[in-house]
Amino acid sequence: MSSAPDLPVVAVIGGGFTGTAFALHLTASSAGKVRIVVFEPRDRLGAGLAYSTTDAAHRINVPAGRMSVYPDDPESFLRYLATTDEHVTDAQLIGRDGQPYPRRLVFGDYVAAEIAPLLSSGTVEHRQADVVSIRRSGQDWLVTDSTGGQLRAQFVVLAASHPSPALLRPLLPFKNHPKLVSDVTIPAALEAIAPDDRVLILGNGLTAADVVASLEKRGHRGIIQSVSRRGLRSRGHAPVVQEPFGDFTSQPAKTASALLRHIRRSIDDARAYGLTWHAVLDAVRGQAFAIWRALPVVERRRIVRLARPFWDAHRFRIAPQVEDALDRAIATERLTLRAASLKQVVQQGDGFAVTLAGRGVSGTETLDFDAIVVTTGPAHNHILQSQPFLRQLAEDGHISACETGLGIACDLDAQALDGRGAPVDTLFIAGPLARGTFGELMGLPQVTEHAVFVAGKVAQATDAAHAPSPDTARHQNANPHSRRLAV
Ligand SMILES: Cc1cc2nc3c(=O)[nH]c(=O)nc-3n(C[C@H](O)[C@H](O)[C@H](O)COP(=O)(O)OP(=O)(O)OC[C@H]3O[C@@H](n4cnc5c(N)ncnc54)[C@H](O)[C@@H]3O)c2cc1C
Repeated sequence: MSSAPDLPVVAVIGGGFTGTAFALHLTASSAGKVRIVVFEPRDRLGAGLAYSTTDAAHRINVPAGRMSVYPDDPESFLRYLATTDEHVTDAQLIGRDGQPYPRRLVFGDYVAAEIAPLLSSGTVEHRQADVVSIRRSGQDWLVTDSTGGQLRAQFVVLAASHPSPALLRPLLPFKNHPKLVSDVTIPAALEAIAPDDRVLILGNGLTAADVVASLEKRGHRGIIQSVSRRGLRSRGHAPVVQEPFGDFTSQPAKTASALLRHIRRSIDDARAYGLTWHAVLDAVRGQAFAIWRALPVVERRRIVRLARPFWDAHRFRIAPQVEDALDRAIATERLTLRAASLKQVVQQGDGFAVTLAGRGVSGTETLDFDAIVVTTGPAHNHILQSQPFLRQLAEDGHISACETGLGIACDLDAQALDGRGAPVDTLFIAGPLARGTFGELMGLPQVTEHAVFVAGKVAQATDAAHAPSPDTARHQNANPHSRRLAV
């Protein structure tokens, strides 16, 4: 039985895609020799923030053929999709490029279906609760959840990736205003927006594109202004599938500017072969780990500060169906994209008077809006302050912020780095929160590979813990922490 008291206990904090993929792969690599407990407040594992949405306008932004939970079986989700009636009920399933981009919820269903047998057999346990504190207890960790339950674990894996977006300062006085949508991932978040409302969207990325598509589906007719510092719009996929193009690892760039020059040159070279920038950016993404490792921290920071908006706009591509919605809104002049920053917001009747400073122009402009939607993305740079258990782990010196501001610091084995920069060998970081160390780690293909990698590392560690050395065995009765106890 998996919950036998002498099995090492692995507590996974967060049962979104990362935590669930990790649990699946740890089960495979540890051959049932661990007890895996996933803490997740949602009623099912696998969907998390991205794939819980019930909004039909929200589609996966990577074709279904590249969204598998098994890197060595890329068609797994496609096969699952064929067992559903989506091909009949979802008239827009197939994008312009001929590939399926199902609703995001369907992907959540798929991951939940993959973990279901392990939940039924008790191999993986789901504790439906928020973790509120994780404290050291001898060599173990004591994990306390929001129901008051406690678990003594020998290993902890942090997979609580996406914190809520942070509110920009001018919006703070309005945080309870019914027409300020500060977190679009909350179900029915856009319900307060009336069909003729003039809407300001803060941010221009994938989530902003989702909002435009959702508003269109809900029959919204009012004007929309989408504002970001650079005014870059999300890009779609290449018209036809292309192989990645470019070598960024044989002589990896040592500075941010050398890397950018290399990318620009490769895009020119790609054109000569009839390829688009998509193929080059795909190569960069595929080689991101090696590229990132070659860059000193100061250059990584420079990339995060200066190049990230361009990277995000080109690397994160929207589904063709969402791109079409964006194009329609721009063509009918319902949607304007602007490069500007938010200066001031004051109440104007039931709505807002918003002062914006345009990029590269002097002076400001004040415009009236009925509703504001924040899509500036999860506040990863404040991750350690985002939840009590993370704040407390940091205060106790067990975790630290990544130097790039992208998440939680860890080493190349995904072990958390403590306040002094030393690895904590029983505390692991899985998924997007580890991207300061591993480079690009947000799109599903990379997140899946990382989950497999961390599962392998934890399996090694639990193996070592499970096979006590003769010395350890001799002292087992004397030392209460040498016995792996499950509470
Ligand atoms: C809106 C959105 C859409 C996306 N769409 C795509 C896409 O189509 N294709 C693609 O390749 N990538 C997409 N991504 C990228 C995405 O980061 C990854 O694909 C992946 O979903 C990340 O999953 P995760 O489990 O790491 O994070 P999350 O989905 O954030 O899951 C973390 C989980 O932790 C739980 N949690 C948080 N705090 C606690 C706590 N204290 N105790 C217990 N549990 C806790 C949360 O409830 C949540 O379920 C999208 C990202 C977002 C934000």
